Amino acid sequence: MLLTLRNSLVHLGTRDPLRWHPLLAVYYLTYACNYRCPYCSDGTGTPYYRLASPVLSAPEVLRVLATIRRYADFLVLTGGEPLRYPALNDVLRGLPSLGFDGVVLTTIGDDVERHLTLINEAVKHLVFSLDTLDAAKADRWLGAGPGAHARILGQIERARTFPGRRYEIIISSVATEDNLADLYDVYEYASSCGFRFALCPQLLGVKAPARFDGDPEYRRLFDFLIARKRRGGKVHGTVAYLEHMRDLSKFLCRPSTVLAVSPVGDVFYPCLEIGRVAGNLLSEPDLDRIRAAGREQIGPEPSCDTRCHSACALGLSLAFNHPASVLREAMLAAKAGLRR
Ligand code: SF4
Ligand code: SF4
Repeated sequence: MLLTLRNSLVHLGTRDPLRWHPLLAVYYLTYACNYRCPYCSDGTGTPYYRLASPVLSAPEVLRVLATIRRYADFLVLTGGEPLRYPALNDVLRGLPSLGFDGVVLTTIGDDVERHLTLINEAVKHLVFSLDTLDAAKADRWLGAGPGAHARILGQIERARTFPGRRYEIIISSVATEDNLADLYDVYEYASSCGFRFALCPQLLGVKAPARFDGDPEYRRLFDFLIARKRRGGKVHGTVAYLEHMRDLSKFLCRPSTVLAVSPVGDVFYPCLEIGRVAGNLLSEPDLDRIRAAGREQIGPEPSCDTRCHSACALGLSLAFNHPASVLREAMLAAKAGLRR
C-alpha cells in the first residue's frame, strides 16, 4: 500500500507527472477470445479477438509482472479472455510471491472451474462479464453456440460455492442499446448472490453510443443503481462516478494513474485507448525511461473531449479530480457495513 499512498500524493499534486505513478496496472495476458460479444472493442473500435496476439511464456510474463510490481500495488489481469492464455496456471502459481496488494482477474467465466484452486490463492477480485439473463439472447451474442450462457452461469455458481473461497466475485455488465431492460435482472441476480455489480456503457472505440446521451431509459438504469447504492447495495464506483456514467459528462482524464501493458510487455503511452507504444518492459524494465521516451515522441498527456467512460479512466480520474467523492464512498461503505 505504500506505493499507492506515495503515488496518490503525486497525483493530488499534478495531473501529468514526469515519472510513472500508477494506481493500477492492467496487463493483457492475451487478446485471444473464443467469444464474440457485439460490443467488444479496443480504443480504435477493433474487437480484441481480431488483434494479433502473440503471447509471452509464463516465466517472461512473471518477469513483466515483477517489474510492474516495483511501480504498482494493484494488478488487473485481463484480455481478450485471459483464461485462453495457455500457461495461466503457471502465472497464477507465481503471482502470490510477487506480493501485489490486490489482483483482479476478469473473465467471461467459461472453464473457470479448473483454475479455481489457484485463483483462490492469487486473486482478490474475480470479475465475470454478464450482460443479460436472457439465455437465447446471450447465446446469440456470445457466438459460441447454444448453451454457452447456461454453462457460464454454472461456472459462476461453482466459483461462488468454491470451498474456502477468499476472492470477491464481481459481475461486470456492459450497457448496450439492446440490453438496458435486462440489466435490472442482472443486478438482482448479482445482489441475491452477494456479488458486487459493475456497469459501464458500451464504448464504440472511446465513445458511448450517441443515443445514450440524455436517453431516459439509459439514465433510469444508472439512477436505479445510485438509489440501490445509497441503500447499501453492492454497486461498483462512487456516486459521483455513477452520475458521470449516467450523464456521460466530460471529465479531466489522468491517464498516468493506469499503466496498460500488452501481452508482449509493450507499455502504452499515454493510455491503451490512444494505443501508442512507448517501450517494452522486457527490454527496458525502467518505467520512468519508458515514460520519458513516450513524452518525447508523443508529447504530454492530452486533454481529451468527452469520451472513455470506463471503470479505469473515469474511476481513477474522478478520485483525484473530486477526492471528496472517495470520502463519501467510504462513509456509504461504512453505513452499509453497519446495516449488514
Ligand atoms: S469475452 Fe471479452 S474479449 Fe471476448 S468477445 Fe467478449 S468482450 Fe471481447
Ligand atoms: S480520455 Fe484518457 S484514456 Fe481516453 S483517450 Fe484520452 S487520455 Fe486516453
